[in-house]
Amino acid sequence: MNYPCIKVDLDKIEDNARFIVDKCKENGIDVYAVTKVFCGNVQIAKAALKGGVIGLADSRVENLKKFEGLSCEKLLLRLPMKSQVQEVVKYADTSLNSEIETIRLLDEEAERQGKVHNIILMIDLGDLREGVWEDKVMETAEEIVKLKNIGFGGIGVNLTCYGGVMPDDVNLGKLISFKEEIEKEFEIQLKIVSGGNSSSLYKVFDGSVPEGINMLRIGETIVLGRETAFGEAVEGMHLDAFRLQGEIVEMKRKPSLPIGKIGMDAFGNTPSFEDRGEIIRAIVALGRQDVNIDGLEPYDSKISILGGSSDHLLLDITEVADRYKIGSVVEFNVDYGALLGAYTSEYIQKR
Ligand SMILES: *Cc1c(COP(=O)(O)O)cnc(C)c1O
Repeated sequence: MNYPCIKVDLDKIEDNARFIVDKCKENGIDVYAVTKVFCGNVQIAKAALKGGVIGLADSRVENLKKFEGLSCEKLLLRLPMKSQVQEVVKYADTSLNSEIETIRLLDEEAERQGKVHNIILMIDLGDLREGVWEDKVMETAEEIVKLKNIGFGGIGVNLTCYGGVMPDDVNLGKLISFKEEIEKEFEIQLKIVSGGNSSSLYKVFDGSVPEGINMLRIGETIVLGRETAFGEAVEGMHLDAFRLQGEIVEMKRKPSLPIGKIGMDAFGNTPSFEDRGEIIRAIVALGRQDVNIDGLEPYDSKISILGGSSDHLLLDITEVADRYKIGSVVEFNVDYGALLGAYTSEYIQKR
């Protein structure tokens, strides 16, 4: 057995996915599970599919490629790179897009591969990440409908990612209006109106999602059981599907304040310390090179994290010192950033 490792409870992931799928279904909304935070781990993706999501969505083609053997819809979230259109058409059924230049390349590549590639046109409704600006929606749509090997699957928005803009009746309402306008102007049907990510769920829970939003792309809430508009735990969901485990390599009684003149720490910051007197300190073999340690929370609430460096995590275990020894394993819950780090780090075993 190797440490550090991240353990996932697949039943909890399945439960969480089913919880979201059921709530969304009541509102006429399909759910794609977003798999990027666990780097497209196939077992976790399968658990989400068991929970009833209609497809898998990831920002990286490399992760979608891992899903090649799974029979479900595959959606590329990050705008395709021009240099990657071949893989995009090969591994994604649908991609989110905002640049007509790239969409034209996808069209040519789809013809070459004898496929229709579906796109969702992203509209920027104020969050200032991806999407065409409102005054360019109709002219972009006009170009898209001319392309023979592109399926115009629908439109979408991404919110609360860069600008922190909350999904509300105004911006989601605009999205629905654009659907109607495009359908009327070009005499087509748009199947999908994708109303965002986990931050849109609060409107699903309170029943206020405008009618017409029929798809959401959900990552964080499925894996961590929290919605992201207010950061609230969702009642009825598992908050503890993941456990990051690290091993204690030193445990000693020492002061809580360093001795000597304080300069900079390993990361160039001037540290400050709280005087707790003498404490029992434990070092866990895990560090900033693996995860954002600020995103860790010990499952044992009597343990507190003092800080850490690249490879060392320092804990105050004074209150529970009798329960731990050298070689003991300490378990942590993770936030989104720490989970991403844990799955990305080649030093952390996945179990
Ligand atoms: C990451 C991402 C999502 C999922 O966001 P969560 O907050 O994890 O639900 C949805 N859409 C796009 C475009 C993304 O990049």
